[in-house]
Amino acid sequence: MKNYIINNHNEIRILFFILFLFLFMYLEKKYPMKDNIKIFSLRLINNFILFFLNIILLKILLPFLAVTFSIYISSNNIGIFNIININTFITLIISLILFDLTIYLQHFLFHKSSFLWKFHRVHHADTDLDVSTGLRFHPVEIFISMLIKFLFITIMGPPVLAVLIFEIILNTSSMFNHSNIFLSNRTDLFIRKFIVTPNMHRTHHSNKFDNQNKNFGFNLSIWDIIFKTHKYYNTENLDNLKIGINEFCSKKELWIHKILLQPFK
Ligand SMILES: [Zn+2]
Repeated sequence: MKNYIINNHNEIRILFFILFLFLFMYLEKKYPMKDNIKIFSLRLINNFILFFLNIILLKILLPFLAVTFSIYISSNNIGIFNIININTFITLIISLILFDLTIYLQHFLFHKSSFLWKFHRVHHADTDLDVSTGLRFHPVEIFISMLIKFLFITIMGPPVLAVLIFEIILNTSSMFNHSNIFLSNRTDLFIRKFIVTPNMHRTHHSNKFDNQNKNFGFNLSIWDIIFKTHKYYNTENLDNLKIGINEFCSKKELWIHKILLQPFK
């Protein structure tokens, strides 16, 4: 079973991606948080073009991605978990938690470094939020993020299955927490005890600097609580937040060529 999953990791990832993409898009249509999303089609088309461009660029630039890289690391017994002998299930859980912490710290770094912010700002410049925003990242950010994953895998030597599960969770949680799905204050407060909700992440996408430096989590919400970067708005106040970056909020900035060149302005 484990070998079957690892041998078919690309197909499994694509299957989960398509399944959750359509599920979240359906929920956005049925229970929208905001039902007046501006320039919807133009945003959606260009965000998806960027997403597919990133897949092609990664394939060209790197000989392998996170799962394939972890197969190599595992088979060569590199990394802490491959040296010390702990129960496989415990290793899997610890790997998933530490992987998530790494992504939290990476996100924090992309906000604090002025060089990295130029690239991460592209993601924040989306003028509204929906599933497609969760796929809108500049190729340089995607590339640096992959190198950070390689570094984590080399140091920790997590099980290959943990890397595959984490890649699926990260992709799914990114689509979920950027989605335009309505959650009542009560549901939101309950879910955000465990994972990052769309309401929680919407605060992070506000055009206000103070809000952008809150709610860095992508999956587990505990990191924002531990590192005191958590901020709560109820749905009524969330509605008044302006989303995006003031300098890049015009319609023409939504086109793919503008998105790609934005960090160099
Ligand atoms: Zn951010």
